[in-house]
Amino acid sequence: PLPIEPGSKLTLDLAALYDHSSPDLAHVARYARGIQQRRGDYNGRILSIRADDLTALAIIYDTTPSDLIEKLSDLGVLIADPAKFFAEQDA
Ligand code: C2E
Ligand code: C2E
Ligand code: C2E
Repeated sequence: PLPIEPGSKLTLDLAALYDHSSPDLAHVARYARGIQQRRGDYNGRILSIRADDLTALAIIYDTTPSDLIEKLSDLGVLIADPAKFFAEQDA
């Protein structure tokens, strides 16, 4: 089963993404920085991205959106539940 329900928001853990040593994530990291710049959203710990952008990234990685979600989840850079994420960080 997918860690993220289809149609739900795709939310990235920015610290995990930017700190990640996997060169596999370089395109995702660059894309996320580009979105932060366009939004002027520099101070967030997490970033919600568009479903359309997931589709574009899947093409870059020569995979499907659901496989890319699985990959991002396996690498620990996806946040399934932002509210729970913040509750755990602040605990
Ligand atoms: P835009 O697409 O013309 O969107 C203008 C504004 O509408 C955005 O300003 C945002 O306040 C709001 N908006 C548009 N779509 C959504 C949405 O799905 N959810 C939410 N919560 N708000 C939405 P903002 O955030 O300052 O972004 C400025 C421009 O930067 C956007 O203009 C777009 O061209 C680009 N951009 C920002 N974030 C993304 C993104 O995640 N993906 C893509 N492809 N472009 C983005
Ligand atoms: P949520 O979408 O579950 O997001 C929870 C918290 O994660 C947000 O609290 C915010 O601190 C963080 N977060 C999520 N996505 C981003 C992101 O792309 N950039 C940054 N910097 N932080 C992000 P916040 O802002 O207090 O919002 C609480 C809830 O209010 C959100 O829950 C969402 O349900 C709603 N909300 C806030 N802004 C928007 C918006 O622009 N559009 C829509 N549709 N809902 C919004
Ligand atoms: P969200 O703000 O809760 O928006 C959920 C969905 O409602 C979006 O899914 C999109 O299909 C639709 N939507 C919301 N606002 C707009 C809008 O102004 N124009 C259009 N055409 N559709 C809108 P989507 O695109 O998959 O985005 C998922 C999440 O990514 C959004 O959740 C929001 O948290 C974030 N996001 C996407 N685009 C932007 C943006 O331009 N600026 C900001 N600040 N956040 C964005």
